[in-house]
Amino acid sequence: MEYPEKLRERQSKMQTLDHDFHSAWGCVYSNQSTLSEASISGLWQQYADDPATVDRKYHMLLHEYTTLFSTFFDGYYPISMHAHASDALLPTTIASLVLNTVATSPLVLNSPVLAPMAHEDPKATGGRIRDFALDFLGWNTAHVQAPNFVVAEGIYGAGFGPLAHTSKEWEVNAIASGPKPVVVDLRNATRDSLNATLAEAKSQGCIAVVCDMVSTEDGSVLQPERFALLKACCAQNRLLMIVDETMTAIRCGAPFAFQRAEYAMGEEVDKKPDLVIFGKGMGVSGIAMGFDGAMIKGLTYTKIEDIQQTIRYWRALVSRPVRLPVLIEALGILRTAQAENWPERSVEIGDAIRGITRELAPGTKEPSAIRGLGAMIAVDREVAMQFRVMSAIRRRSPWVRWLPKLSRASSDRGLLVQKVFGEESKSSRQILAEEASHHGTMPLWCFICGIEATSEDWCKTCYLSVCNNEVCEQAFRRHACI
Ligand SMILES: [Zn+2]
Ligand SMILES: [Zn+2]
Repeated sequence: MEYPEKLRERQSKMQTLDHDFHSAWGCVYSNQSTLSEASISGLWQQYADDPATVDRKYHMLLHEYTTLFSTFFDGYYPISMHAHASDALLPTTIASLVLNTVATSPLVLNSPVLAPMAHEDPKATGGRIRDFALDFLGWNTAHVQAPNFVVAEGIYGAGFGPLAHTSKEWEVNAIASGPKPVVVDLRNATRDSLNATLAEAKSQGCIAVVCDMVSTEDGSVLQPERFALLKACCAQNRLLMIVDETMTAIRCGAPFAFQRAEYAMGEEVDKKPDLVIFGKGMGVSGIAMGFDGAMIKGLTYTKIEDIQQTIRYWRALVSRPVRLPVLIEALGILRTAQAENWPERSVEIGDAIRGITRELAPGTKEPSAIRGLGAMIAVDREVAMQFRVMSAIRRRSPWVRWLPKLSRASSDRGLLVQKVFGEESKSSRQILAEEASHHGTMPLWCFICGIEATSEDWCKTCYLSVCNNEVCEQAFRRHACI
């Protein structure tokens, strides 16, 4: 058998690019190990040899991550860490986080009237600070005991929990639980209608509005003037603004997609979102807080020490905000993203892939035929089928998402034709298939519905596979081999 030497050599040459644009629903920014980052590889080595020594650096590493994150994302701090973004985006979690941020703010701790006093009845301290927080936020017991969200239509990300109520897929909708969010049609709202909806929602216990910048449903982009309108109406109704950037961070041409130039202009430019949900490719999920966010700004966190102290108080509520190996990995990803300027590169990647698609599939020449932003690309399902590209796809959606790796190779037209789009990709796919056969593995994702591939009967010519669902198998059998 040819493997290992020769095959490994060939394999290493092509590892930079293949036709997997599914990338674990965008969880993989790069297929290069963070070991290529010198200081991270040193940490891993040390962790393997002597984990206790690295463990003693825990606070230092977490602090370093927090600082790097806030620099990279222009003032947003990763205050709350979670295993999954859906765990973070819960009204009760957000309400507690915000109450904690008020209670430990300079407004409270630096106030001779509000600050906790020695020898005081703890109940009196708690009551006084709670009253102040509710007054500051415009909340009553409804917001504390049954907090809820307003969501701008198009949120699809949540696979379970309260936000799953808004999903158009019955499998997701059927398992939704928790309070139903208030849904607003942001695309067609006027300033008056939006203000009326938000005012009513706030009075019913809503604490925040959640939006995403690119629709996971059909790849349409939130227009800057709609974003500005939402910011203005959130501020007017004293609702926190939360942007879900789980899918869009880094790969949409800016650190967070809403930090793109077109959103940083216009009349509402001074108003910034208060909270950002991050996850997937970042290696860790959580909630980032903007201390100069439209609403949080009122808490007067002007000193870095005050911000750090509040973050420390919040993180002290859990035994360990993030496990050490996860932290090292996340630090490596962020350092590489900064060193290689992935936000800028994602624009080049998006341009290259859109260019090739328009060239090879003339039907996609219309401006609205390819949607998304940067390296988050939404195309018609048939186009993905035509090029035999593994996509972040859902069984019934006519739109699929391409989430290419953010390596240099993904912006190289020649390599894209050779390894992904063109007839020439046949030999690259062949090598992948040989390697998979050697290891007893198969392509990861069902070509038709995007979930884990399970059928033994996968295509060795195209390096594509399928799950055992009957509908998928039927559709898969119809694919034209390369
Ligand atoms: Zn399937
Ligand atoms: Zn095939």
